[in-house]
Amino acid sequence: MNCKTEVQEVERRLLSSTHEEADTRIFLHATVALKNGCNRLVIWASDTDIVVIALYFYRKLVDIGLQEMFLKSKSHFIPIHVLAECLTDSEREVLALIHALSGCDTNGFVYGKGKRMFMKAVLGSENVSEIALVCSRMVGDISDDTIAKTVSIATQILTHLYVKDDFSNLDAVRAHMYYGGSRSLESIPPTDDAFKQHVLRAIFQTHTWINSTEPVPHSLNPFQYGWVSNYNGTTQPVLMLKSHVPPKLNRDNFCKCRKKCERNCSCKKLNVRCEMSCFCRGQASNCVRSQFQLDID
Ligand SMILES: [Zn+2]
Ligand SMILES: [Zn+2]
Repeated sequence: MNCKTEVQEVERRLLSSTHEEADTRIFLHATVALKNGCNRLVIWASDTDIVVIALYFYRKLVDIGLQEMFLKSKSHFIPIHVLAECLTDSEREVLALIHALSGCDTNGFVYGKGKRMFMKAVLGSENVSEIALVCSRMVGDISDDTIAKTVSIATQILTHLYVKDDFSNLDAVRAHMYYGGSRSLESIPPTDDAFKQHVLRAIFQTHTWINSTEPVPHSLNPFQYGWVSNYNGTTQPVLMLKSHVPPKLNRDNFCKCRKKCERNCSCKKLNVRCEMSCFCRGQASNCVRSQFQLDID
């Protein structure tokens, strides 16, 4: 009896935490169970959030004795240990961030760009190990450098979901698509400014998930990660900090030149600059007019 009482007291102490959500607390409890001799886990939940967190921690849980882990939904069991073995270490590590970026309970979805498209763009790509490295830096405190790198990688992923060409930012893709005929605002990407707020919320959520085996995880300030406090005390997402219309974009003309704007260039006829919204993007490599741009001004 004494022995049992001692064990229960130790476990109760280990299970105390500052977690606010059951989603993360489950994995603290799983860690404690494994350290106390359990080797098969059944988690009664089927949320996608739980699946990605379970896959993220799979290797760490195996290291402390896990043999099998199932998620139990209403009618069936999902064998996480089987799913995990189908993915590389890097792929399991990036799932949480990609899930948060492509839309989850706390972050919006990008119109027309579903979770499957994000996953397909990342899993099996050359970028996986680079993204995994960034995710590994989201344990504990997060540096400005890691935030900037995450925003850059996420922007690159989203850009390629819209266009095949090599654009360096979403604002350029927006202008290119809008003037190229995509007049529906829903069909063009968000601005770089708005997307950065989206990525910050994804980082905040990913950080919460991947620190969940700590009883008292390092907490980030949500107001530095895309959230703002409302006048009535509720918290809401920051949609953007800048106007979604670039100040220079005040003209309707753009050229559709395929051959460097040498002939029949509509910008040339109007004697106006070729801009990033033109097919030539106003860049010297595509447009012979770029060297004369200053003369126009
Ligand atoms: Zn042109
Ligand atoms: Zn041009």
